[in-house]
Amino acid sequence: MRVIKIDKKDWESGVGKLFGDYSLFGPVKQGAFHNFAPLEKGQMPDLDYVNTRLSPKSVVYPQCETMFEYTLDETQPDHHVNKEIAKDYSPRAVLGIRPCDVKAIDLVNINFDNPQYQDPWWVQRRDALTTVALGCNNPCATCFCTTAGTGPFDDSCADVLLADMGDHYLAKVRTEKGEALVGKAGWSQDAAGEAGAMDDLAKQAESKISSKIETGKLASKVTTELYDADFWEDVAFSCINCGTCTYLCPTCWCFDIQDEVQGKDGCRMRNWDTCMSGLFTLHGTGHNPRPNKTARVRQRFMHKLKYYVDKYGDGIGCVGCGRCVQQCPVNIDIRRVCELMNRFEPGKECA
Ligand code: SF4
Ligand code: SF4
Repeated sequence: MRVIKIDKKDWESGVGKLFGDYSLFGPVKQGAFHNFAPLEKGQMPDLDYVNTRLSPKSVVYPQCETMFEYTLDETQPDHHVNKEIAKDYSPRAVLGIRPCDVKAIDLVNINFDNPQYQDPWWVQRRDALTTVALGCNNPCATCFCTTAGTGPFDDSCADVLLADMGDHYLAKVRTEKGEALVGKAGWSQDAAGEAGAMDDLAKQAESKISSKIETGKLASKVTTELYDADFWEDVAFSCINCGTCTYLCPTCWCFDIQDEVQGKDGCRMRNWDTCMSGLFTLHGTGHNPRPNKTARVRQRFMHKLKYYVDKYGDGIGCVGCGRCVQQCPVNIDIRRVCELMNRFEPGKECA
């Protein structure tokens, strides 16, 4: 790992040089919100943002993607055969991603790239990705990353971590991918002597985060007792199962597979899906093991805060970005639900 300095006057020209080697993604203003989007040649990422409404997970895991195509035309020799379609796995880089969102990509990686299963599309896009994170100098009031296993300047996952120092950026270049990117951009000014200033900025940012999530006792809870807790009815009461919390979450990974047929031509699509939808678990028989919204709300929180904790032993399935807290139309707050779960004692429930 090394630290370099990027003068802001050299930022735009450096990014400009990257367009030839990478498909670039970055935060752009879309209406009232920022979201991550592909950058047109010469377009700069808008780094003057706090957080995006949707997470950048779509850079490696598109909201909708075609997996296969086929024909039902029996005059064709390959009718009814699924054919994988060509995809773009050329190098891509995401600029200005927040450290918590990079951490979330690593977290989701557990689901798509593990000894039992390697999702070919995820793995190839993940391998093609270089992440240039931007530390958060001024986290939102709803950020609780420091108690969710990450932080505003978490440098454990990104290939490059930038710190905005006013007239220049300091960049921790952590990986070979990061070295390749800064080399192509022509950024090389050694700034080892300023590493301490970056650490000071990180401490200042961490001290601004007062929002917390209580997780210390989750692992010791008995799953079946937590599952049967009385508080789920109250937690779920106001939920409208809109799915907003799951679609904008950087760590939600559920999908559905649908066939779309027009005439005799068809394609098989993979689309993000949400455990908050009643259709998500509806069986072909008509049986639904999660038949009501209480069961669905419980599943969302039990998955992130209990099943994930028990299965991986690596903290909670949430990075504390606060998006679901900000955007839930009825103000259901994962911090409050986690507190109920963490404090739960069978027979001693309190609101
Ligand atoms: S965003 Fe809120 S109302 Fe919508 S599904 Fe999630 S918890 Fe329920
Ligand atoms: S559960 Fe909420 S706070 Fe946690 S990572 Fe997902 S959107 Fe962010």
